[in-house]
Amino acid sequence: MPIRQQNVHAARWSLNGHGIGAPDLTASDNQVFGENVFSSAVQRTRLPKDVYKKLSKTLARGEALDTSLADAVALAMKEWALEKGATHYTHVFQPLTGLTAEKHDSFYAPTGEGTALAEFSGKELIQGEPDASSFPTGGIRATFEARGYTAWDPTSPAFILENPNGALLCIPTAFASWTGEALDHKIPLLRSMDALSKSAMRALKLFGNSEAGRVFTTVGPEQEYFLIDEQYFFERPDLITTGRTLFGAKPPKGHELDDHYFGSIPERILAYMLDTERELQKLGVPVKTRHNEVAPNQYELAPIFENSNVGADHQQLTMQIMQNVARRYGLICLLHEKPFAGVNGSGKHNNWSMGTDTGENLLEPGDTPHENLQFLFFCAAVIQAVNKHQGLLRASIASPGQDHRLGANEAPPAIMSIFLGTELEKVFNAIEQGEVGESTPESFLGLGTPVLPPLPMHGGDRNRTSPFAFTGNKFEFRALGSSMSLSLPNTVLNTIVAEAVDFLAEELEDALEAGADLEAALRPILQRSYAANKEIVFGGDNYSEDWHSEAESRGLLNLRATPDALPYLTSDDTVTLFSNYGVLSQRELESRYEVFLEQYVTKLNIEAETAASIAKTMLLPAAARHIAMLLGAQLAELASETEALVSSFVDAIRELESANLEENQPHDDLLKHAEYMRDTTIPAMEAVRAAADKLEKVVADDLWPLPKYSEILFVK
Ligand code: ADP
Ligand code: MG
Repeated sequence: MPIRQQNVHAARWSLNGHGIGAPDLTASDNQVFGENVFSSAVQRTRLPKDVYKKLSKTLARGEALDTSLADAVALAMKEWALEKGATHYTHVFQPLTGLTAEKHDSFYAPTGEGTALAEFSGKELIQGEPDASSFPTGGIRATFEARGYTAWDPTSPAFILENPNGALLCIPTAFASWTGEALDHKIPLLRSMDALSKSAMRALKLFGNSEAGRVFTTVGPEQEYFLIDEQYFFERPDLITTGRTLFGAKPPKGHELDDHYFGSIPERILAYMLDTERELQKLGVPVKTRHNEVAPNQYELAPIFENSNVGADHQQLTMQIMQNVARRYGLICLLHEKPFAGVNGSGKHNNWSMGTDTGENLLEPGDTPHENLQFLFFCAAVIQAVNKHQGLLRASIASPGQDHRLGANEAPPAIMSIFLGTELEKVFNAIEQGEVGESTPESFLGLGTPVLPPLPMHGGDRNRTSPFAFTGNKFEFRALGSSMSLSLPNTVLNTIVAEAVDFLAEELEDALEAGADLEAALRPILQRSYAANKEIVFGGDNYSEDWHSEAESRGLLNLRATPDALPYLTSDDTVTLFSNYGVLSQRELESRYEVFLEQYVTKLNIEAETAASIAKTMLLPAAARHIAMLLGAQLAELASETEALVSSFVDAIRELESANLEENQPHDDLLKHAEYMRDTTIPAMEAVRAAADKLEKVVADDLWPLPKYSEILFVK
């Protein structure tokens, strides 16, 4: 059964986004960059001329692919891949697990005469059929119909992954059920990019822009991560099983000295970074910056931005390469949001903007009055969108790992707010108040020079504590978790902004039809919109207690934990929004809600059982040996102090074991189950940890079975 074309091939555009984001592969004089990518440059040399032309045209116009092209593309792709040593190909997709999935197929099919022929047709390129039963679907796919379909996304370039023992052709694909419902994160992202393009194009017309043919959303993620020596990793069952340490006392030295952040990068780490960057460049991922982060052994990597679809695919690839390359250096790359309690966690800043296919960034203030008006319009739409859909945005980044971070001291709070910067906030305040005089709206918007005051570009006026900050020519959504896929948060951003753009565009159309000129028409619209939404704008310290109470009095949501946030995925506002824009149906939303709740429960169950097992079978015996040793040395007083600690440790373990019992957990309702994990399991785990961390400080070092923070975090 064919997949509904409009679902999968929802959006089409040039691979390199016509001048927005990363450089065109052909423009690069770097030999390594894009070496393993089936780029448009490679396509141009390898495809028959007419096929290449047709393909580029359909991609640029955003049309569905003519299947007659597929065979020719498949042939060229296969020959290119075989020359590069590929033996297998795979459709790469993003199931709702948030990870990347692949199913490998050999190019070579036996001929029956003892030889093998390299086979790969258009059919195999366009569509794959992985067994979907091993991927979460949240009830969409009935078990009797285990088939899922992967469908080629020609807008995200195919690439070759090298391995010492062969190479693999990877084809970015969407993943859908046989009924055409999205089972992945790519399809809704493509749909949301389409939605935003339509709305933004409608608005651009009102500002007199007739050149642009399409608007892309762009994303540039800044990825934080930890690197630790693999020896310590393998000695810690908690790291192996859950990606984070479930035990560990705070080390005597933290990041107080700031010697890591500004320190030089150690040789082994630098070698790792160079190697990772080279591997990523071969794959056409435009990596750009690297530096140390605040916490010891924490680092950051950032690429140049790309269109959201390619950027999201590249981000998945980046996380995979980062982890693979680490092993070459005896390192483990930790992507968990909170690998070490009491130490800075890892996030992923999601720089987001909108740009036309003619290369204009819609969030660039510009320096002519006309551009200023347009900029203020789009900026107002973002403010309105974020305010209206705070809960949904928060839900789009919810996970158990994130619950350790959001609201903790070093991470953006669970309360959504927007930082505009002093100057831009002044501009909007002036608009709202319709002020006259020195800072009249006219002097900002109006037709005199210098129009907008210089806005802080790249780092001038910064507020590191804001979860959503304007940074000169883009918004930076800072609350993403380090291990997350970019797809869902960007799907949400694109769709909520599409809605707000349409809302404001409609008002503007009406006013223009009534005969007002652009500026006169726009000013009252911006005034109303900002007045109605300014409670989301906050320039102060998001970490302060005062902000929490002020936010509450402003009526902003404070969704602390995943089970508090996820219900916003299926709220009435969300369902209406997503179905109006054809991004996710109610059923698709419900399936995501269900899958994410299930993941929350499952991950916490694994953590809780791992914690109980380590406590009982590793830490408790160590403490007992320590007591025996003290008694043997006739140190009765010390022994009885340790005994007291052990006794509360044992109590806590019993509590946790009881919390972990199947029969004590509510199984009839997923949300209730998640709330049980939040209210019963997590506190029980924390109590076990608190007792264990006290013991860690008294038990003889040679008896303590887990490597300590002071070792893991300071060996580079
Ligand atoms: P800063 O140093 O202020 O954070 P950078 O220019 O270094 O600014 O950008 C940080 C991240 O933002 C990079 O990943 C970059 O690619 C991304 N970025 C820059 N411009 C845009 C844009 N228009 N859309 C999306 N991401 C962007
Ligand atoms: Mg940043």
